Amino acid sequence: MKVAVFSTKKYDRQSLSSTNTRHNHELVFLETKLNSQTARLANGFPCVCLFVNDKADAEALEILAAGGTRLLALRSAGFNHVDLHAAARLGMTVVRVPAYSPYSVAEHAVGLILMLNRKLYRAYNRVREDNFELEGLLGFDIYGSTVGVIGTGKIGLIFAQIMHGFGCSLLGYDAYPNSDFTAIGAARYVELSELFENADIISLHCPLLPETHHLINADAIDQMKTGVMLINTSRGGLIDTKAAIEGIKIGKIGYLGIDVYEQEEELFFADWSDSIIQDDAFQLLQSFPNVVITAHQAFFTQNALQNIAETTLSNISSFEQGEALTNELKLPESSTPKVTA
Ligand code: NAD
Repeated sequence: MKVAVFSTKKYDRQSLSSTNTRHNHELVFLETKLNSQTARLANGFPCVCLFVNDKADAEALEILAAGGTRLLALRSAGFNHVDLHAAARLGMTVVRVPAYSPYSVAEHAVGLILMLNRKLYRAYNRVREDNFELEGLLGFDIYGSTVGVIGTGKIGLIFAQIMHGFGCSLLGYDAYPNSDFTAIGAARYVELSELFENADIISLHCPLLPETHHLINADAIDQMKTGVMLINTSRGGLIDTKAAIEGIKIGKIGYLGIDVYEQEEELFFADWSDSIIQDDAFQLLQSFPNVVITAHQAFFTQNALQNIAETTLSNISSFEQGEALTNELKLPESSTPKVTA
């Protein structure tokens, strides 16, 4: 199948090309992101392949549909960047990679915790400058901490298991509780308010949906323990950035570790080192000594790239061959509109 692959980097081209020897699709790699301005580049491509910061809104999808696109193959689990209603209205099928390596993201969240707690970012720089002073590096034992896990799906569950291994007690919150979480031991589901009030570390692993947008806002932060550690490896829009900045300034948030950022589309996956970044909130966050930011790299392991390539190309092959699509994203029956184009 002819596939326009948007937002590709060298590592995407390598993993997709080597896996494609088993699928034989005609892959055309584009470095640019998909949006309503660039959608015309996919004219004549029945399949368009997207990553997390491509913007498949109604306008872009209409241009794609007019150009003959019938399949959107997401190289991600998250799908908040795709207007599923517009896709359904335009008769487009959407497939994704529901799980490529939940370990990659869960382990990265744990990495952020250790980085912040033991101030490894400071320690690394100090030692390189022959400064062996310990002042300013004081941490706390993770053992015995209470960890709040918001979203106990594939990634949240693995994260919880790792934290259980550290000797933490676990408070979970999920719209759809899962007995695998409580089976970990020292883990129970609570209301969000109880989780906010009691957790020393809070890690976000739920999807970005209208109901989870700014889940962490000023009111939520107000309920948290003073000095709480907040970790977000899920989606930037879960945290109200302005409220988080305020929370850090007043000392309520003691540590912030984020792999995702509300306005990351403008920044991440590119080198801005010779430019003046115009996002003041991002620059302010960067300036705080208790904030660690990574640029949406939690998924970025060899294992995950391999699985993303394999599942994406298998999804495309299944669509081409008219097979059942196990990884199709569908709207709930009640909200499925009639196909008009
Ligand atoms: P998943 O679907 O297995 O788990 C998500 C969990 O969130 C489910 O248990 C679901 O019931 C729960 N949930 C849904 N609505 C909720 C709500 N309103 N409140 C609380 N919980 C709710 O997904 P996953 O594979 O564990 O991925 C979780 C998220 O991680 C994804 O949505 C994605 O945004 C993010 N992610 C980030 C990266 C990265 O590189 N940083 C990579 C992959 C995924």
